[in-house]
Amino acid sequence: MYDKPQVTAIGHFINGQHATGGSRSQDVFNPAVGNAEKRVALADKTTVEAAIAAAQAAFPAWRNTTPAKRAEVMFRLKQLLEKHADRICRLITAEHGKVLNDALGELQRGIENVAFAAYAPELLKGELSRNVGPGIDSWSEFQPLGVVAGITPFNFPAMVPLWMWPIAVVCGNTFVLKPSERDPSAAIAIAELAHEAGLPPGVLNVVNGGKEAVDVLLSDTRVQAVSFVGSTPIAEYVYQTGSAHGKRVQALGGAKNHAVVMPDADIGNAVNALMGAAYGSCGERCMAVPLVVAVGDATADAVVEKLQTEIAKMKVGPGTDTANDMGPLVTREHCDKVRGYVEQGVREGATLVVDGRGIKVAGHEKGYYLGACLFDHVKPGMRIYQEEIFGPVLGVVRTESLQQAMEMIDAHEYGNGTCIFTRDGEAARYFTDHIQVGMVGVNVPLPVPVSYHSFGGWKRSLFGDLAAYGPDAVRFYTKRKTITQRWPSAGVREGAVFSFPSHR
Ligand code: NAD
Repeated sequence: MYDKPQVTAIGHFINGQHATGGSRSQDVFNPAVGNAEKRVALADKTTVEAAIAAAQAAFPAWRNTTPAKRAEVMFRLKQLLEKHADRICRLITAEHGKVLNDALGELQRGIENVAFAAYAPELLKGELSRNVGPGIDSWSEFQPLGVVAGITPFNFPAMVPLWMWPIAVVCGNTFVLKPSERDPSAAIAIAELAHEAGLPPGVLNVVNGGKEAVDVLLSDTRVQAVSFVGSTPIAEYVYQTGSAHGKRVQALGGAKNHAVVMPDADIGNAVNALMGAAYGSCGERCMAVPLVVAVGDATADAVVEKLQTEIAKMKVGPGTDTANDMGPLVTREHCDKVRGYVEQGVREGATLVVDGRGIKVAGHEKGYYLGACLFDHVKPGMRIYQEEIFGPVLGVVRTESLQQAMEMIDAHEYGNGTCIFTRDGEAARYFTDHIQVGMVGVNVPLPVPVSYHSFGGWKRSLFGDLAAYGPDAVRFYTKRKTITQRWPSAGVREGAVFSFPSHR
């Protein structure tokens, strides 16, 4: 099945076992060196159906396992993830390219979601009202949906799957995960650890693949709900197709996050924060900041000057070298696409202040590197303003007022994250109150909610009603059932009268 036997073959994980399946496969590259070191199987319909069948078979027993027992698996998984963190981070860096420190950051965020899932008995307690009528009690409980699916992007191969399946399974569901085919190993390694932690076979299944596998998950009647994270066109497709098949769907899409820098901001502090937000993980983050909106020319001049100074200090190279701040982009194709945006920005008339295209990483000439790029005088209407680039390209937009900055942000199709740098509490409060964006930071560049809140953008950054992880995920992965109960008792003289006709 694999046409390159010298490379590592990555298959699927179905019913607690490694599995092959699908006649097609594709290369998985190490972006630091530009070599295809692995090959991943692409699941066909039969393989995905086997995973769904395993999940469906595991559901009745898992549903009836007490929430406390399900939570115990999460406690053990948390410990195992911590123990194997280095190995998982190395898998991430070898396929995604991000520096090991960024890989550890994403894994830690994932582990926080496992810790949240361990609160299952508390999260599933339900709501009780006694004596809603004479001798009548009523309560709402939250029951699992059954088999649910998750489809995840390349940029957080450990964290985004951990946003989904731990909460889904701790609520009593069983799961089929379809990770990104560009960096599939971390999801499989974590599934192995989940089984070591005591997750019964079939409760979590991982199928690798692309559109063919996704389409089965979107149409199979046994799948009750689908969580998706990825680019907006695919998010919209998944939302519409899954909904048309009667499934509950949440689909998180792309982003173009703006950071507003006010004239009174501490510029040193703001630029320090913006460097990590723009160039960390090579800009391949949906909460990255690719646009700075500077209020006033003096603010813009100061921001651009300081950014140039800081960019000059950045080290770019393989993610395994801890001296490096930024690794390569994920694939040759993506690297070429991002370079294309830099050319586009120059053609559109923005000023390219720092050009990272000439970068050479000694000994890694075939790697997919692009140095930090910085544009000034970016304007709405330019493609580099409008479109998600998903690379180390930061643009500075100049505005005259906070109002103008906010109008620009509100007019953008995406509404994932934004932030404001200021010392003015009134301006910050006005901004947080009115801006049409789902996650907002004040002097915090990447306002990613902690695991006990939920993560979700507005506008075309999220299709569906409920956000990812946290309390929203508990609601997404369960259905409310409300029960009203009366136990007529001979000893109780006064009670509700349900007899009919009522005038006997
Ligand atoms: P992508 O949309 O290309 O792929 C996401 C998933 O969809 C993958 O599992 C992929 O196999 C599958 N897929 C791709 N094409 C498909 C098709 N035609 N039909 C069905 N399935 C298909 O996204 P990506 O490049 O892996 O990830 C980067 C994108 O994800 C960026 O746009 C980024 O903003 C977004 N993202 C969003 C969030 C968020 O929380 N909003 C978080 C992380 C990443």
